[in-house]
Amino acid sequence: MTIEKKVKLNIKLLKEKGAPIIIVGAVQESEAVANACRDFGIVISAFCDSEPRKSKDILRMEVLCDLEVIHTPSLPKRYPNARFIIACQHVQDVVEQLTGYGYDDFYSPLELIENYNVSKFEHTVSSLYMEKRLAVCKKTHKSYFDDNQIYMRSIDIMVTTKCSLKCNNCSNLMQYYTSPEHTEDKKILEALKIIDENVDGISEFRIIGGEPLMNKGWANIVTKINERHPEGQIFIYTNGTILPKEDQIKSFDSKLVNFIITDYGKLSRNADKMTDLLNKHNISYDRSLAQGWVDCSSIKHHKRSIEDNMEVFKQCCVKYVYTLLEGKLYRCPFIANAANLRAIPDNPANYVDLFSEKKNIKQEMKRLVKVAKFFPGCDFCVGRPYDPTSSVGYDGKGIIEAGEQVSQVIPYKLYE
Ligand code: SF4
Ligand code: SF4
Repeated sequence: MTIEKKVKLNIKLLKEKGAPIIIVGAVQESEAVANACRDFGIVISAFCDSEPRKSKDILRMEVLCDLEVIHTPSLPKRYPNARFIIACQHVQDVVEQLTGYGYDDFYSPLELIENYNVSKFEHTVSSLYMEKRLAVCKKTHKSYFDDNQIYMRSIDIMVTTKCSLKCNNCSNLMQYYTSPEHTEDKKILEALKIIDENVDGISEFRIIGGEPLMNKGWANIVTKINERHPEGQIFIYTNGTILPKEDQIKSFDSKLVNFIITDYGKLSRNADKMTDLLNKHNISYDRSLAQGWVDCSSIKHHKRSIEDNMEVFKQCCVKYVYTLLEGKLYRCPFIANAANLRAIPDNPANYVDLFSEKKNIKQEMKRLVKVAKFFPGCDFCVGRPYDPTSSVGYDGKGIIEAGEQVSQVIPYKLYE
């Protein structure tokens, strides 16, 4: 199936007089796109973004780009006619959303960023980080124009379903596991090899759980990924409860391995020691407080129409969070864990079974990555929209308290 390409590559057309020009996505690389436009003589009127918090985050963008960030649903009122440069990575999603608002003039920034000189401008992020973001942006746009290319910006590698915390509303559904387990390094690395053989590129590898540091094989997995993908960034998502061993940390390439520490206050009992250790070995990390989660962890059969499930999927902000769990590749952590828990009926349409001998894996990957408009598992999910204040395609409670602990496993309906 070929997707109709509505996005134009010829950016010069935007130098001609016409409707105001908006950059889609208040993401870090948008700054570079705005700079390149200015250099090239293209006048930008504003940014837009589907996440409401981004339109409140005007200050950050104003300081550097002197442009307003508009919440995308408000665009038709503010700019009934507009032309768009799509700076964010989910090109087809943006086209579908904006086409729904009646717009039809879209451009890729590929020509602008192809030879962008990062050192010529100041950015809110480091030059090295901007270069990496732009490299990913170029790959996603090239993959949009080439139907045969399968590119995954990032993949979540679930190394365990065990967690040292038990958060009531864990979006990875840890609160439902009665018998959580680690996955063996060998199985994970073999599955990753099969994925590698069937995709054209992966830029980021995210090691997650549960708490990934509970699986003693985590450091070996990181090292092996690093060897196979010397350009790939590796992010380890941890809750700051378990201190990694110094021997493990010091063997890592400090430019490629990064820790993302979610700080649950007193519960993250080793977070301070962890940051000391990472500082000592010059390993980059981000430590941020757990706050303001979107309620998305209930499992319930909604029995929606196909159209309604397509809408839930369309609004979903994690539908590109490719998740590897127990030899199967999924499009999001909800379906991955709901299927693993057997909290939804087994349906091969929900995943690619990497160890299946019968199937054409490449074809299956293409279905998962490029073709699917929703998955059977979406019918069991309340949704996880970019804008949780909107009821379109969402049936959850909106923003909820993060990290609230439960003492017991939460029961659910088991599908045999
Ligand atoms: S720390 Fe909480 S949110 Fe994170 S994986 Fe564990 S249970 Fe889930
Ligand atoms: S099940 Fe569907 S709607 Fe829910 S998080 Fe996954 S992709 Fe999004």
